[in-house]
Amino acid sequence: MTTPRTPLMAGNWKMNLDWKQGLALVEELGDQLKGFDTDKVETVVLPPFVDIRTVQVAVDAGKLPIAYGAQDISAHESGAFTGEVSGAMLKALGATYVAVGHSERRQYHGEDEQVTGAKVKAAFAAGLTPILCVGEPLEERKAGNHVPYTLAQLTGGIEGLTAEQAEKIVIAYEPVWAIGTGEVAGADDAQEVCHALREALREQYGDVVADAVRVLYGGSVKSSNVVELMGKADVDGALVGGASLKAEEFAKIAGYQ
Ligand code: PGA
Repeated sequence: MTTPRTPLMAGNWKMNLDWKQGLALVEELGDQLKGFDTDKVETVVLPPFVDIRTVQVAVDAGKLPIAYGAQDISAHESGAFTGEVSGAMLKALGATYVAVGHSERRQYHGEDEQVTGAKVKAAFAAGLTPILCVGEPLEERKAGNHVPYTLAQLTGGIEGLTAEQAEKIVIAYEPVWAIGTGEVAGADDAQEVCHALREALREQYGDVVADAVRVLYGGSVKSSNVVELMGKADVDGALVGGASLKAEEFAKIAGYQ
């Protein structure tokens, strides 16, 4: 482990697992993580909204070493926003994290920098920690634009944050071409962008913020490639999709050391 920050392994279940399946997974994951030192690695699950209450009850009842959150949040506080879920509602369920600006939200729901920035602020206003997802599509990578493209997403997502807020945010670098494709970015590629993201934070907010923020890598992370990725100085954890749906595999990722 090279990171001086507490590593964070977050499982993004996406639109998988109904509440019964989610319950089975979180209980099995709790079993696998028994005796796990949460000061060494933080393990988080991001279930679909309708599973969160079930996860809350299971985590509380079993005192499981698992934090949980949501995959999205409304940019609005409350009221006439049919189909949306507010930060306060998530907070009331004991959620601590929320993914914002996942590439699937950007791609299929038209979420731009403005929406993403508003959701980051909504998360902080509710006392949740946003996991701001950024990352380039294949064309941008091929054109050699991956760093500026990703940094522009960062700038939009953190606009207007105070240094206190910026210090708490989690950034997930997820190259779109590596998500769900089995094609993991090389550890050096992940390090290049994670480093650039941290240096952009340094320029804007200074050393304290830049050295505190956790930058995750996401895109086809598995137990077989996590060690190499975590060996990189600016990679502080992983945002895991497919491999987080199997308790044993996700526990192996969380216990990579
Ligand atoms: P994957 O998904 O691990 O299945 O590639 C990662 C993500 O989209 O967060």
